[in-house]
Amino acid sequence: MLRIVVVAMASLLLASLARASMLTTPADHFAGQVSIDGFYDYPGLVHFHTGYSGDASGTYAGVARDAADAGIRFMIATEHENLDALSDGREGWYGSTLMLSGVESTRPEGYLLGLGLSRYSTTRDDPTDRFLESVSGQGGLAILAHPDHRRWAWLGTVDDRVAGMEILDLADLFYAATPVEKLTAVALLPVNRTAAYLELGRSAGSPFPIWDEIGRRRRFVGLYAPDFHQCVEIINDHCTAFPKARDLMGLVRNHILTRTPFTGDVAADRATVYAAIGAGHLYVALDVLADATGFMFSAEQGRRTVLMGDELDARGGAEFTVTLPPAARGLKPTVYLLRDGIEIERRDGGDGSFRFADRGPGVYRIEVRTGIPTFFGRDRQAVWIYSNPIYLRRPA
Ligand SMILES: [Zn+2]
Repeated sequence: MLRIVVVAMASLLLASLARASMLTTPADHFAGQVSIDGFYDYPGLVHFHTGYSGDASGTYAGVARDAADAGIRFMIATEHENLDALSDGREGWYGSTLMLSGVESTRPEGYLLGLGLSRYSTTRDDPTDRFLESVSGQGGLAILAHPDHRRWAWLGTVDDRVAGMEILDLADLFYAATPVEKLTAVALLPVNRTAAYLELGRSAGSPFPIWDEIGRRRRFVGLYAPDFHQCVEIINDHCTAFPKARDLMGLVRNHILTRTPFTGDVAADRATVYAAIGAGHLYVALDVLADATGFMFSAEQGRRTVLMGDELDARGGAEFTVTLPPAARGLKPTVYLLRDGIEIERRDGGDGSFRFADRGPGVYRIEVRTGIPTFFGRDRQAVWIYSNPIYLRRPA
């Protein structure tokens, strides 16, 4: 079967070359770091696998090289059921990229990532309560992986100790796609990553209702996961490095916002990354369209300014500000303000700032969408930027 797939992939690649050449060319260069409103913006990826996972290939040094080429400043590997990379001393700065180690834990209900841990002893048969107890005890973060996957979706309630979820998982998009969409995406990947990504988005479900629903009770962080393995078994037990990490790196990125810059000290910078993720000071961007570095979603209440991930007392009112980065100029984007997952306002514009008044208690988040030219001449809508929410709470 796989041999047929490979032959089909090759022929599709040729067929799609002509089509791809008419599509948008992805931006290849990303700014390393900028400061907006006193915050540093660092792009990074969470949830991928290396040779420390049984079904993956790749080394920390190799992944770091590919990440650096895509302007990525931090990478958090999540190996299946082990933290061996940590005990082997693989965490650290590799050039301009901070490489961190976490775990992807197979639970009876589904899959959870464990980030910021120093030890991992949970077995597959242990109840999830034990895993969450261990993560909380170590001051780590548990993140819901594959929340919307057809086979891997989380079965059960989401415990309050789970800090957040994947709002976009590249592997899930892939598995949800039809065979034709998969083949087209695979063929397009090396030549036009935007087109490949859009192929995958067609049949995917939406994890957003889960995100919006839990956010109404408490902070619930949304992030992006590439979940690459760099391993396809074409011959039994032999891993062919595909799809390559370097082809997926710059496609979509998380951007964390931190008050303090990276220092080069691994322990301090590790803490900075996990604090920003835990606080939801993070947005997800389809950076292959244009580098979203410089985006900001903030709110003012009196003299107080907060940013995405933060919570405010709804009684004080709030005014939201969305700042689009310089790269927005070429995309003609539209800014959508959503409250509890429902669009309440939209504004067209290039770069610059947009202000929105609040409409009472709710979970407010931003989606910046843009049209992408396709082979058929019609613009396909894609979300360029997903902010984390700002929560306006009525006190209990
Ligand atoms: Zn995974």
